[in-house]
Amino acid sequence: MNLSVPDYILSISPYVPGKPIEELEREYGIRNSIKLASNENPLGPSPMALKAIQEAMGKLHRYPDGSGYYFVRKLAEKLGVSPANIVLGNGSDEVIGMLTRVFLQPGDEAILPQPSFLMYDISVRCDGATPIYVPLESLSIDLDSIKTRISSKTRMIFLCNPNNPTGTILKKKAFEHFLADIPWDIVIVLDEAYIEFVRDHDCVRGLDYLASGQPVVTLRTFSKIYGLAGLRIGYGIMPEKMAGLLNRIRMPFNANSLAQAGASAALDDYEFFQKTLSTIHEGLDFLYGELERIGLEYFPTQTNFFLIDVKKNAGDVFEDMLKQGVIVRSMISYGFPEYIRVNVGTHEENVRFIKAIENVIQKPDDRIFPEC
Ligand SMILES: *Cc1c(COP(=O)(O)O)cnc(C)c1O
Repeated sequence: MNLSVPDYILSISPYVPGKPIEELEREYGIRNSIKLASNENPLGPSPMALKAIQEAMGKLHRYPDGSGYYFVRKLAEKLGVSPANIVLGNGSDEVIGMLTRVFLQPGDEAILPQPSFLMYDISVRCDGATPIYVPLESLSIDLDSIKTRISSKTRMIFLCNPNNPTGTILKKKAFEHFLADIPWDIVIVLDEAYIEFVRDHDCVRGLDYLASGQPVVTLRTFSKIYGLAGLRIGYGIMPEKMAGLLNRIRMPFNANSLAQAGASAALDDYEFFQKTLSTIHEGLDFLYGELERIGLEYFPTQTNFFLIDVKKNAGDVFEDMLKQGVIVRSMISYGFPEYIRVNVGTHEENVRFIKAIENVIQKPDDRIFPEC
């Protein structure tokens, strides 16, 4: 083969997802492991979503409703926006891709906090634009620094709120101050994949700026609090004109019929939503307490996951935890060589996590030599 591939495609490092449980169990010869690595819902999928999906299966010979007519209307009503503000995606990942495809071209710049969600970088590069990284300040997105990096080439700014992998939020006053200084030809993307878990009332919500006239896009997903990560459904909320542009390139059946049926039913599953919230919040309080008892430093979060400073190589800790059947995420590739990220599980899983981390941390560190 002698294929010509654009340099910007070659510059992309493929997204490395958490390995499937089955794969890790095979590799390490373990069983009954628990996965606390991908911020998934520990309670499983919304039961009402499952029921609706089963009912919708009989119609799988039909193409999906290409515009998601009923589902979009229901979402719009719930959010208090117009259906014309909503763009459905095969996961919110796909909406990120549509945004960069429509609004970025080679030569343009997009500003990304670092570390943050890896899909922004991939999508920006995919469209030949240049990612400009702005490091976090004390684990939070640094709006002041972002402002200083804006140039005449800047076309998009990604803000992950709360931020993955740090769990920190943007506060209203600081954000509004920031927004006021941003030229109106720059798209501001607020990724709210975890917004439902936030307990701090001062957290920015993108919907509050939908009518501002500024190109502010809010991304939401059914993958986290609704427990539907495998179904692949998310959406963006944006000014009508922008939604119209995205819909020009959106594949007509990107939100499949089971996804539309399941997500639509999940919106009504108040009980599951509340149960998930209390599981996460009680789980966080439990884990914080236990980590304090063990003497491990952690970083409080507004999401269903958080960082722990394990004070040794996070890759080694990842492996040692795995041998005990607990899958966590090493933060080495995110630039935190001694941090792991863990999401809240069921109480049983949280207890197993604490036992495993206690064992791993107490294991003597090879790198520390006894004093001579
Ligand atoms: C999980 C996650 C998403 C959701 O992606 P989907 O494609 O909807 O599953 C988006 N953004 C961030 C920051 C996430 O962590």
